[in-house]
Amino acid sequence: MPPLDHFPWIYGKFLGIEWSVWKAVGWLGNAVFFSRFFVQWYVTEKRKQVVVPALFWWLSLAGSLLLFAYALFYKRDSVFIFAYALPWIPYTRNLIIHHRHEKASRPCSACGLLSPPSAVYCSRCGAKLGETGIF
Ligand SMILES: [Zn+2]
Repeated sequence: MPPLDHFPWIYGKFLGIEWSVWKAVGWLGNAVFFSRFFVQWYVTEKRKQVVVPALFWWLSLAGSLLLFAYALFYKRDSVFIFAYALPWIPYTRNLIIHHRHEKASRPCSACGLLSPPSAVYCSRCGAKLGETGIF
């Protein structure tokens, strides 16, 4: 059977790539890791200030672990392995800090808005926040 040569099939390869399970893992890792930029950009544009949401760190963690598995079990390249061996540490730490901050947030008894742990007054309605925070 002659190879398909109409895009996206090029000489019998999808997008010109020789596919395998590990190639799929590697490309999925690339897609997940790259998607974090769109998440961060979207949230920053929406709030009109630079924001790094927890989803950014989850995508960083998942993408880098997929790329680490690809590097370790398929490519077996020391440069590539080292590049993805350690980033899970700051990603996980940022998720822990984010979780602690969310948990310590102070709810407004008047309107229900969650305020940062250090807030004294609600930024939406101006009500004084209760004494339930960590400060
Ligand atoms: Zn309020």
